[in-house]
Amino acid sequence: MTCDVFAIANVGVQGLHPYQPGKPIEELQRELGLDSVVKLASNENPLGPSSLAAAAAQASLKQLHLYPDASGFELKNKLAEKLSVGVDQFTLGNGSNDVLDLIARTFLSAGSSAVFSQYAFIVYPIAVQAVGARAIITPAKDWGHDLDAMAAAIEADTKVVFIANPNNPTGNYLNRDALAAFLAKVPEHVIVVLDEAYIEYAEVDDFPDGLTFLAEYSNVIVTRTFSKAYGLAGLRIGYGVSSPQIADLLNRVRAPFNVSIPAMSAALAVLDDHDYLRRSQQVNSAGVKQLCAGFDDLGLPYIPSMGNFVAVELPCDAMPVYQALLQKGVIVRPVGVYQMPKHLRVSVGLEQENMRFLAALKNLINEGC
Ligand code: PMP
Repeated sequence: MTCDVFAIANVGVQGLHPYQPGKPIEELQRELGLDSVVKLASNENPLGPSSLAAAAAQASLKQLHLYPDASGFELKNKLAEKLSVGVDQFTLGNGSNDVLDLIARTFLSAGSSAVFSQYAFIVYPIAVQAVGARAIITPAKDWGHDLDAMAAAIEADTKVVFIANPNNPTGNYLNRDALAAFLAKVPEHVIVVLDEAYIEYAEVDDFPDGLTFLAEYSNVIVTRTFSKAYGLAGLRIGYGVSSPQIADLLNRVRAPFNVSIPAMSAALAVLDDHDYLRRSQQVNSAGVKQLCAGFDDLGLPYIPSMGNFVAVELPCDAMPVYQALLQKGVIVRPVGVYQMPKHLRVSVGLEQENMRFLAALKNLINEGC
């Protein structure tokens, strides 16, 4: 007897599309017969891991037979001190994706809705739909969040608003005044998620630190990650900061051992590796400038970015260009799934990697794209 498992899956889950992972780099390299492949597709840190973090993860392996500390006591204490918030305000996640998912599972269900913007991070629609809630998607303004439209879109059943600042895949940002004015408009029973996965890269003076809103707005959750500027994407560790009441709810839903010992050990170590963070920021800043200068030379418009990636607009459909770059061993990210069919999102790499991408792109553009 076979069971139609699709029919018994949650209705929201039935509407989800399978995630299409890229080929492993080694396989692609073999397939293309190339000596090297450059991956500028997942907004990873091109420096490799912090040596302090790697050593800490290595040292923690002697505890592989043990469950991790379910409360994340040491890391939460360290973060609380660094960020000047209470230990009871944290929710640790298996990447910040996990925290976003916990937020959806805690506050959303069939009969409620979440607001986010067009070109929002792909995990928001997935997390919302998986729990059977309704997504209210507002049109973008200049590729960014239209906060007036988002405030106006909040309905009686809206429980959560998601905002990434800086935003992925566009890279643009909301300044302090804009965000403050928005928060003042949002009803207090609506949770506002400020997803700050890329905050360490934001270089402008008017960039808001979401944590500064927590004292005034008990409905705000700030999410952050060790995956980007801290270079620990492979270990999967991120966190949420909120009121203690929200953290309590999220921690009730959270699987007790969702963050591994190597991940917590490496995160603790990298928080002390100030030199690594500084280098991440410097390499990124130089890389963004290098990519944008390259796009300027090619006459290609791009969205000014505060993240570790830039979305560039091509004169043609981006998909064949993505494929052609792939054949040359340069992996970038087409963003058609975000309804940006002419854009490619390229993550900042090391100088040589950026050069290789720009040279390959130049050839394709010169050949007529
Ligand atoms: N938020 C945004 C906006 C992101 O781009 C990403 C990573 N692509 C995440 C959250 C999640 O990152 P992680 O789960 O690795 O912390």
